[in-house]
Amino acid sequence: MKLPAQQLSLTLNTGDPIPQLGLGVFKVDDDECERVVLDALEVGYRHIDTAMIYRNEAAVGRAIARSGVARDELFVTTKLWNSDQGKDTTPDALATSLELLGLDYVDLYLIHWPAPLRDVYVETWLAMEDLYGQGLAKAIGVSNFEPDHLERILEAGSIVPAINQVELHPAFQQRKVRGFQEPLGIVTEAWGPLGQGKYELSELEGLEQIAQNHGKSIQQIVLRWHLQEGVVVFPKTVQKKRMVENLSVFDFELSSDDMAAIKAMDADKRVGTHPEDGNW
Ligand code: NAD
Repeated sequence: MKLPAQQLSLTLNTGDPIPQLGLGVFKVDDDECERVVLDALEVGYRHIDTAMIYRNEAAVGRAIARSGVARDELFVTTKLWNSDQGKDTTPDALATSLELLGLDYVDLYLIHWPAPLRDVYVETWLAMEDLYGQGLAKAIGVSNFEPDHLERILEAGSIVPAINQVELHPAFQQRKVRGFQEPLGIVTEAWGPLGQGKYELSELEGLEQIAQNHGKSIQQIVLRWHLQEGVVVFPKTVQKKRMVENLSVFDFELSSDDMAAIKAMDADKRVGTHPEDGNW
């Protein structure tokens, strides 16, 4: 895929590229989402992260159709909701998502949560492998999986997930999960890359100074840190001005001292749900 100048991509275990920075649309109402995604595509985003449970796939689809951006220049992710997990229900759920999105395939389909109390994620993974085989998802992966969940699908399945999308930000750096999955070639995606606004990034000691040194905002520093860590990010904003700000992170580099200082900000501070508890 051809990305606008300067933007970075990583290569998935499928051999296909993934734009390293995109837009997330969690909690963006269907009403507003078409405008938000159109704005994002206009200012240069080529990667959109949605999910069945966000209830805005139709709006994402309308924006894509109106944008005029070629399908093969876009990377679209959606996710399978917990109640749709299962051998027979997974294909139907993807068919519904594709219809809402107005697409023939998604670039990435994720199991949204392991939902361990339901205990059907292993058979769900096998169904995901079939969808990949049919070309309906160009890559398949998981979200919120801990190493023990990954181990079970690696043992039962024949495809290594391309992605594990997990909560990840400076105060919660997921070193254990990443240490497990990255040697297997599983790319890490960060959700809540800015901590979901649930704590003040400016409270992280030293971050403000790094931002001043580079003449960038704290948010831009955090996003740049993710990129240099080899992580995929899709910060959420509905404001066009912030979309431009968040995308303006390809024209500078953090030093190894900056990277080490941010690494030291890890405080094991989870702001979202623990994967064992996401059994809705
Ligand atoms: P985020 O860390 O992207 O934070 C979003 C908040 O940051 C919003 O309040 C926004 O107003 C603010 N913000 C964004 N840019 C800013 C800027 N430049 N300056 C100041 N404030 C700024 O949190 P998120 O939306 O939860 O995560 C990003 C995406 O990750 C979601 O939209 C969704 O696509 C995905 N996600 C996935 C899961 C999952 O379980 N897989 C869970 C949550 C989110």
